[in-house]
Amino acid sequence: MHLSSARLSEVELELVEPFETSFGVERHRRFLLLRLETADGLLGWGECVASADPLYSSETLATVREMLTGHFLPALFRQPSLDPEEFVRATARFRGHRMAKATIETALVDLSARSRGLSVSRFLGGARRRVAVGVSVGIQPTVAGLVRRVGEYLDAGYRRIKLKVRPGWDEVPVRAVRHAYPDIEIWVDANQAYPVTAVGKIRRWAADHHVAQVEQPFPERAIRAHARLAEGAPFRVCLDESIVDAVSLEDALDARALSSLNVKTGRVGGLTVGRALARTARRAGVPSWIGGMLESGIGRAHNVHLAALAPFTLPADLSASDRYYREDLVDPPFVLGPGSTLEVPRGPGIGVEIVERRLSRATRASRTFRR
Ligand SMILES: [Mg+2]
Repeated sequence: MHLSSARLSEVELELVEPFETSFGVERHRRFLLLRLETADGLLGWGECVASADPLYSSETLATVREMLTGHFLPALFRQPSLDPEEFVRATARFRGHRMAKATIETALVDLSARSRGLSVSRFLGGARRRVAVGVSVGIQPTVAGLVRRVGEYLDAGYRRIKLKVRPGWDEVPVRAVRHAYPDIEIWVDANQAYPVTAVGKIRRWAADHHVAQVEQPFPERAIRAHARLAEGAPFRVCLDESIVDAVSLEDALDARALSSLNVKTGRVGGLTVGRALARTARRAGVPSWIGGMLESGIGRAHNVHLAALAPFTLPADLSASDRYYREDLVDPPFVLGPGSTLEVPRGPGIGVEIVERRLSRATRASRTFRR
């Protein structure tokens, strides 16, 4: 299998509704898509989760573009095979820039799976046909609006509800949702918004309202604060931004700073890396799940395939396409099935069709690289 070209496109899709987290509000999503093509016409697709501003991570559209064109695509063209794990090893000497690396790695996994006639999940060793999912609900203008929104998602069939929280938007909205829906599974995610002095406060309201999981309340390097929160807590403490590689995971496991691992393909540098981290966590008795980054159907497909692997035992943040975009880039769209699940596509590679007409409408710029 020889790579003949790589096309990098900048794409913009409008969200169905604005999504607010402790970082700010997103109304549309601008992102990069990579299309790899081999000499015999096989395609592999990768989606980059970096955004325009360095809020969730230090990577941005601009840094990813720079790293891909200056370092990682040249490394890929030099690589003798198109094996994704070989690409991870070959680029390990370049520090950081994991979202940029994941853009290529995911496209290589798609390509490698297609070349063997396997779905991405089978290629990675997954066996599930459906994966359990929940929904992540952004910060809303009012508490009453939040309760209504949660009700709509429950009516739509979502079983697990994750609420975005931050100082000033935590105990009151969580209590209101718990009061309205006494039996649902509630998770919260703060995206690092609390100071490490907030351990006692968070523990109190999370326990009082039977929150099942508290995700990344403290800054990414605050491993000891997360360990203090986790000690004897009646809820799981989940790490997201803190875990970027095997070393950070092993240190956090040693410190007992997590009882749940959020794996995001982009944050950790790819699907094969995410698989390895989830296996390490499982050996330590810590369950994993797949986090979302408002991906289009391409990134979502990769994530659904990864969620089909055995170590991912908690429901993923991978909702149906219509929760995010009016018109997704892929067919068929992901629809919510029985028991709050999404079906794992069966066809080769990511198993969904990229609709070129919609893609070209959403494309703002594109550049093709050849060997
Ligand atoms: Mg998170």
